[in-house]
Amino acid sequence: MQQETDVLIVGGGPAGLAVAIAARQRGFRVSVVDGAKPPITKACGEGLLPDALQALRELGIELRETDGWALRGIRFEDEHASVSSSFSGGCGVGIRREVLHARMVKRASDCGVVLYWNAPITSLTEAGATACGNKISARWVIGADGSRSLVRRWSGLESPSLQRGRFAYRRHYRLSPWTDFTEVHWGEKAQAYITPVSEDEICVVLISNRAGSRFDETLRSFSKLETRLKQCAHASSERGAMTGNFYLKNVTRGKIALIGDASGGVDAITGEGLCLSFRQAHELAAALVEGDLRLYEKAHRRMLRRPRLMGKLLLLLDRETGMRKRTMRILEAGPHLFERMLAYHVGETRVFQLAATGASLGWRFLTA
Ligand SMILES: Cc1cc2nc3c(=O)[nH]c(=O)nc-3n(C[C@H](O)[C@H](O)[C@H](O)COP(=O)(O)OP(=O)(O)OC[C@H]3O[C@@H](n4cnc5c(N)ncnc54)[C@H](O)[C@@H]3O)c2cc1C
Repeated sequence: MQQETDVLIVGGGPAGLAVAIAARQRGFRVSVVDGAKPPITKACGEGLLPDALQALRELGIELRETDGWALRGIRFEDEHASVSSSFSGGCGVGIRREVLHARMVKRASDCGVVLYWNAPITSLTEAGATACGNKISARWVIGADGSRSLVRRWSGLESPSLQRGRFAYRRHYRLSPWTDFTEVHWGEKAQAYITPVSEDEICVVLISNRAGSRFDETLRSFSKLETRLKQCAHASSERGAMTGNFYLKNVTRGKIALIGDASGGVDAITGEGLCLSFRQAHELAAALVEGDLRLYEKAHRRMLRRPRLMGKLLLLLDRETGMRKRTMRILEAGPHLFERMLAYHVGETRVFQLAATGASLGWRFLTA
């Protein structure tokens, strides 16, 4: 294991690999240590929106057609209504986490990032960090070690602002996709989030507020979907995770910066976590070049605004069933409103355009 590097990244998930590549692109010597060993997977909806694909391209990662399933847009459904909209700026993609991870590892390795697997860090030191008993000194240390980040805790950046913790479960099914949309099915205090990931596989994530409810139990509240999936073979075992909107007061301290889920995040229902990590990676690498992490701190706050607002809106619909049902009916009758919301969500329009859509929605609410 190397004893010295410019940038030491703790965590080789999507966020860690993205910032590793972005820092190498700017000429830094970069090492990544991860406590696990590929193939690395986790509970995820596995949908990349068009803006995420653009951010990946800027890292030099061009996904192949066979890596996943092209996604044309997003569909919302509940018991009585359905509304969908296509992305106007190209397709997104549904892709297995292991496949995305393998593509990112390959790119990182090709551009000279030094990767250590099975190497959990055990402490932060004045000079850098200790992994597997080896002290590695680094000019910058980046915590990309996920939502339960130790780097965050050890560096004193923890802050108790988890707004709402929800329980998510993911399972893959062997089945030809019936759609090229990501579908979000809204039920009573739960959502089913379906992403086709290949020509014979779909990823199903169930998210609910009920502690202790497992996949099959939550699936029962989506009877149409349950019937459809009943005869299909499982293509992976159930995997769980917590999700929610989670913000930190600060994401940098001294020579330490946090990225990805370690730096806070938005509820899984937004489908924005990965994109956010990739965009943060570009901003963090640019701040390293300037030798000033305050630039990243500012950019991080700015980048969170849009997904944070959408996360709040979507969680409101989860909490307020009556409001969600009325909103769905209004959107079904006026799909252009949904189209505009989606355009804002994927960064194609600005906040004032969302505000105009909100006003129009509000008006229909009052007059419907
Ligand atoms: C149910 C669910 C569905 C989601 N769906 C979507 C979606 O459809 N689209 C989307 O864009 N986002 C989605 N997200 C969000 C997305 O999964 C996360 O934002 C993303 O995984 C963050 O990546 P990360 O690299 O920050 O963290 P992680 O993927 O958690 O990676 C952290 C890495 O750090 C390593 N690590 C941890 N501790 C240590 C240690 N002490 N030493 C060394 N290494 C360590 C781990 O082994 C791991 O490899 C979803 C999230 C959930 C929970």
